[in-house]
Amino acid sequence: MTPLAELLIRRIAATGPISVAEFMADCLMHPAHGYYSTRDPLGAAGDFTTAPEISQMFGELIGLALAQTWADQGAPAPVTLAELGPGRGTLMADALRAAAKFPGFADAAQVHLVEASPALRARQRATLPGHAVTWHDHAGTLPEAPLLLIANEFFDALPIRQFQRDPSGWRERQVGLTDGALAFGLSAPAPLAELAPRRADTTPGDIVETCAPARPVMGAIANRIAAHGGAALIVDYGDWRSRGDTLQAVRGHAPEDPLAHPGAADLTAHVDFEALAQAAPGLAHSRLTPQGVFLERLGITARAQALAGALSGDALTAHIAAHRRLTHPAEMGSLFKVLALYPPGLSPPPGLEP
Ligand code: SAH
Repeated sequence: MTPLAELLIRRIAATGPISVAEFMADCLMHPAHGYYSTRDPLGAAGDFTTAPEISQMFGELIGLALAQTWADQGAPAPVTLAELGPGRGTLMADALRAAAKFPGFADAAQVHLVEASPALRARQRATLPGHAVTWHDHAGTLPEAPLLLIANEFFDALPIRQFQRDPSGWRERQVGLTDGALAFGLSAPAPLAELAPRRADTTPGDIVETCAPARPVMGAIANRIAAHGGAALIVDYGDWRSRGDTLQAVRGHAPEDPLAHPGAADLTAHVDFEALAQAAPGLAHSRLTPQGVFLERLGITARAQALAGALSGDALTAHIAAHRRLTHPAEMGSLFKVLALYPPGLSPPPGLEP
């Protein structure tokens, strides 16, 4: 049993079942036993791999799309170049290298990283030598300035609550104890004003998820972009509107029961992009676009061919596989989606449609 499982069992025995959100928050960010607080989970030797770790092309194309947006909006200086949950810092390093081709961008851009994990902050520092970087605990402290923001696989790590429709309201899915072990259960049914609109498109037994911590993050981003300009690119797995139980645990690149190893497995949920857009009032949003389509429009195939010219043997094989993994509908191309938020009346960033 993990140390966090022992701690949670004692707490639940003393004070009763906890919400899925409380469980997720402790599993991911408990100061002593949290998954992200204590380790770097990315890469082949870790538990999962993300797009920027698969190929430099991902961060390069995002960097070029943001720099083009900056140029289209009149090249404001200074401009905040921010990332939520930067992991190892790989995406930001690739983005900065590519965006430096835009005259003036490197001097105007001030790098701000929102990262809660001390272990990953250290890793980001090492990946970005020579760059002045400011770290934040929350998006709420980002500068009041034009904002270019990227969030890749950030929102899926924020704690969700789960509600099961009942004839007389909603029951919250909870983590409690059965025979002394962690087990899922349901609260008594109650009406829930927040989910009233979902009574139209659900039937009893259906599960709906909400992500309260995403709202202040989106609010902080929306305030800055509405007041000063810029754009936000959000890339993640999920869809337009939450449907069903999407809580999942991954350890050693394999899925497992979310209750099996609290604090030692990555826990995520699909992102409800409609809820993110609704939490950014005053901004326009792009069409939700599959990652494969977005990257093709940004020219990933031409970039892949250019890089392939310098490769041979195993490196070339890996490069071709990485291109496929990022774009193919059977791999990350369709499951992952891209949403941009930008000032009303302007065009969305390259690769996306209004
Ligand atoms: N974007 C990176 C890493 C994704 S993993 C990549 O694509 O490789 C999720 C990242 O979000 C990690 O850096 C994790 O520490 C961070 N994170 C998770 N919850 C957070 C929170 N509440 N506040 C700030 N950072 C958080």
